[in-house]
Amino acid sequence: MSTLRFFAVKESLKRKPLKIKEPKRRSEVFGANVFNEASMRQYLTKEALSSIIEAVTKGTKIDRVLADHISTGMKEWAISKGATHYTHWFQPLTGATAEKHDAFFETIGDGIAIEKFGGSQLVQQEPDASSFPNGGIRNTFEARGYTAWDPTSPAFVYGTTLCIPTVFVSYTGEALDYKTPLLRALHAVDKAAVAVCKYFDKNVKKVSASLGWEQEYFLIDNALATSRPDIVLTGRTLLGHSPAKGQQLDDHYFGTIPSRAMAYMRDLENECMLLGIPVKTRHNEVAPNQFELAPIFEEANLAVDHNSLLVDVMQKVAKRHNFSVLMHEKPFAGVNGSGKHNNWSLSTDTGINLLSPGKTPMSNLQFLTFFINTIKAVQTHEELLRAAIASASNDHRLGANEAPPAIISVFIGAQLTKVLEELETVTKGKLSPQEKTDLKLNVVGKIPEILLDNTDRNRTSPFAFTGNKFEFRAVGSKANCANPMTVLNSIVAKQLIDFKEEVDVLIDKKSMKKDDAIFNVLREYIKTSKAILFEGNGYSEIWEKEAKKRGLSNNKTTPEALKVKVSKSSIELFENLGVMNEVESKARYEIEMEEYILHVQIESRVLGDIARNHVVPTAVRYQNILIENVKGLKAIYGDQFKDFAKEQLNIIEQISRHIEAINSSVTKMIEERKSVNSQGNIEKKAKGYCNKVKPLFDDIRYHCDKLELMIDDELWPLTKYRELLFTK
Ligand code: ADP
Ligand code: MG
Repeated sequence: MSTLRFFAVKESLKRKPLKIKEPKRRSEVFGANVFNEASMRQYLTKEALSSIIEAVTKGTKIDRVLADHISTGMKEWAISKGATHYTHWFQPLTGATAEKHDAFFETIGDGIAIEKFGGSQLVQQEPDASSFPNGGIRNTFEARGYTAWDPTSPAFVYGTTLCIPTVFVSYTGEALDYKTPLLRALHAVDKAAVAVCKYFDKNVKKVSASLGWEQEYFLIDNALATSRPDIVLTGRTLLGHSPAKGQQLDDHYFGTIPSRAMAYMRDLENECMLLGIPVKTRHNEVAPNQFELAPIFEEANLAVDHNSLLVDVMQKVAKRHNFSVLMHEKPFAGVNGSGKHNNWSLSTDTGINLLSPGKTPMSNLQFLTFFINTIKAVQTHEELLRAAIASASNDHRLGANEAPPAIISVFIGAQLTKVLEELETVTKGKLSPQEKTDLKLNVVGKIPEILLDNTDRNRTSPFAFTGNKFEFRAVGSKANCANPMTVLNSIVAKQLIDFKEEVDVLIDKKSMKKDDAIFNVLREYIKTSKAILFEGNGYSEIWEKEAKKRGLSNNKTTPEALKVKVSKSSIELFENLGVMNEVESKARYEIEMEEYILHVQIESRVLGDIARNHVVPTAVRYQNILIENVKGLKAIYGDQFKDFAKEQLNIIEQISRHIEAINSSVTKMIEERKSVNSQGNIEKKAKGYCNKVKPLFDDIRYHCDKLELMIDDELWPLTKYRELLFTK
């Protein structure tokens, strides 16, 4: 009998939901462990507080002396919350968050000790972080990188540690993390959008990008999950036969949340409240044991930090509930995978959501300006947007008939499609007063504040307009949102800069009125952006053919998709916006390619091990039992035994065939790996893993899964899908 599997099943059956204490009102504990304005008012001098506020709103530098005040206040506040240590908290390109704790404790001679945290320790640190991926930016002998405080994301106490959100850059100033380019992209879109806003309202001084992510995940009993070597080492199952019941009855989606999962969510949400993560929505997702969590949207940089922090909190809280959280995009074949929709918009410091239709024709023209420019940005840079969501794990999900395809397109709904059609017929050059009145009254003026058809959304679109925001749905559940947010905000910034230039040329050189110029440029954008607009079923084959005709890219695998990151135009785009220089762009490309290679390599090794060391020996054992049985039948019945041993003989033969197929595929996979590994070139290596090594996974899995169906359940060593997915 397979001991580990049955031990795990037994353990999982003993579980009970934990009792969770919750505050009566969440609002009362919200942000209790965050050094927010309320706590700053208590612990900082007026001057120190206003210097932080200025740094956040205007990006000004914080004075060294004031930094000392701030750090002292921050330390006192943190100690009052139970902190003994502090850390610079950052997001290196591993995808996880990083921290290195130092105690406040310090000795000052004569056996005296104090708690100390100086301004210089707050502002900058030098972790010995030479082992993070850097894409060749730092030579190991010059491996120093440093972390620098990002005052726009508030410090918080997590456990007994004061965490200070920071950027992570090399000594020569190149970004080594996710946050640095994101902050630069947010700055670029702020500047570009403010300039365009000035056409409509001179009072706008700042435009912020907002992000509301929706995190999907699986909750699997941790005894069961950790009994599977593939889940432990790769975050997903590499084999396993589908159970008779999967998600076909749609009985999990939005159903009653199972009580253990519910206790977990409440516990998690309590933690989120203390940390100031404004979580709001929870529900069951489509696949069994799949769930979703969504917050109220926030400024994009803060939202990214909160999502990264959440991932960590989710794992920690899960331990208390004996759950493993699977964040992988495709932990189980045959049921839905997980994504992380990124809801995105732009809003002004005057309180206007630029992607929300307004009450007046003028505010609607502003809305249309940002709406059409976003579409145009996606049209121009669709391939770059695809690259921003590429990863070995997301490859399993995109285009797998459950998630958006690898083709980027924009859904806008019937109402706005009609508006664009009408705007397309606007006269070239100056508009007559009659036409302008007509446009304002009947086209622009008629866009309702609430777009009804956007409640019935096209779920198959990777980039959909949903009434007052765009929803980028192709982002993977495991991904750090910073990458797609950096790209999206950069391409929109670039587009808005171009737009402003074109409109100004018409105003200055053709002496057009501002509205006429805007209408003229928007008309041309509508004409040239048509290829990206698609309202139909994004999962269909017809769309794939149609998209090809339209010239849209369809990069199905990560190595193909990433290439555009180092094209001349992409490098220039990021360079001109000040988001990434050439070295940074190339380094990121290399890191992501390398990461792809390593992920597939690890999966390949794990699969080879499981197939040879778990599945095949079990198959042989079962085959031997059958052989004994057949021998016994022969002893009893003599020549007549075949009448009674037909099935057994058949299974014995089939087992041999499957074993042979598994062994030869594993051998082939190892050989392919060897030959691919000997390639020096990173592109060739990635392609080799993608096109030569990975396809063998399916062969091996096919035969293993067949054996699972054939072999005595008592002998099967790997915890089965039905146990993983239906234990609540
Ligand atoms: P769903 O897509 O599941 O139907 P909703 O449309 O209600 O859910 O909202 C999804 C997410 O969109 C939430 O996290 C919400 O905070 C976010 N959101 C709403 N408005 C904005 C906005 N202006 N900018 C960014 N995100 C937003
Ligand atoms: Mg959504």
